[in-house]
Amino acid sequence: MIEHYLDNAATTRVCDSAFEAMKEMLLENYGNPSSLHAKGYEAEKAMERAKQTIADILSVEPKELYLTSCATEGTNTFLSGIAEHLSHQGKHILSSKTEHSATRETLKRLAIQGFEIEYINNDSTGKISVEDLKAKIRPDTILVTCLHVNNEIGVINPIEEMGKAIKEENAKTIFFVDAVQSFGKLEVKPRKMLIDGLTISAHKCNGPKGTGILYVKDKVFCKPLIVGGGQEKGLRSGTQNTAGLVASAVAAKELYDLRLPLAEKWQSFKQLLLNQTEDLGDVFVNGPSVEEAAPHIINLRFENIRSEVLLHALEGDGIYVSSGSACSSNKPEEKSPTLASIGLNAQQIDSSLRISFGRYTTEEDILALSDSLHKHITLLRRFTIK
Ligand code: PLP
Repeated sequence: MIEHYLDNAATTRVCDSAFEAMKEMLLENYGNPSSLHAKGYEAEKAMERAKQTIADILSVEPKELYLTSCATEGTNTFLSGIAEHLSHQGKHILSSKTEHSATRETLKRLAIQGFEIEYINNDSTGKISVEDLKAKIRPDTILVTCLHVNNEIGVINPIEEMGKAIKEENAKTIFFVDAVQSFGKLEVKPRKMLIDGLTISAHKCNGPKGTGILYVKDKVFCKPLIVGGGQEKGLRSGTQNTAGLVASAVAAKELYDLRLPLAEKWQSFKQLLLNQTEDLGDVFVNGPSVEEAAPHIINLRFENIRSEVLLHALEGDGIYVSSGSACSSNKPEEKSPTLASIGLNAQQIDSSLRISFGRYTTEEDILALSDSLHKHITLLRRFTIK
């Protein structure tokens, strides 16, 4: 059966050149970058070149980049490290209701440790209100954390405006951004956006799993989460995943260079999908309009159809997508805080599917999805959600 992979916001296929670069690092240039001999030196040089490539995409200095095992680690490290370091200055932290669990769970821990977590309001498309952010910043606000592009509905937050507002209200407040879904696809420029810390993940950009990058602005001090041999200038101990980093840089550069034509192609795929499924009736776009959302994500609600059932029906035809929630709770905010924050009830959340495109998505994938939706939806509409 031909596979149609439409779950690129979850993870992506490694691109060929990244695979080759990784292979070379694993089989030839496999030295430990901390070793003092030539083999170590070669690996260290390869790491430096890779960091330079990623730094160029972000327009930052390579010394501001730290290799991690994933974006989740970057988020945990930065939020916990900054909170602990700045706790003498204040305990107030601002975030949004549309965060990834990496942020949500770290903030839960910080709340247990005595930090006060407050949430900035968002509009009905999921976009953070800069007005509300401004109003909520206090002299003891040590940190604001939010994502750039939401992974479920693709809403793009006004990061540059937020950065400006934060620094105007309290120059000491640290601004952290989860750029996992935007890096490589949209412009992410920490300096211009007045960002102090940022996390990205290679496997969302056709790089390998197990590789993340944490940006920490020069002179911002973050306490390490993992201590040991002092690698990554002491912020992240442990022998570096050199192959992962080198492959990630190759993949990120290729994706970044392709971002404009890809965005155009993905927008046309969204439109095609909407046109093709119009006759099904009761199909709604959750969150921002297709033009306003990040180009690679669309979240659709198939009223009165349980998305988990639909997901598996599609899977039977070789089509892979993602459902809004696999949680049996009846509380919308437990099923999906993001979808709840834009006003969806539990039943609507259970009817939502995320479809996400990547560099290898083709028009055939969209047409196959549309065919499969037509095939299953009449039958599935007989099942109502309680
Ligand atoms: N943040 C966002 C917005 C994501 O979509 C994801 C992955 O789904 C993560 C963080 C976590 O990334 P990683 O798998 O590298 O830990």
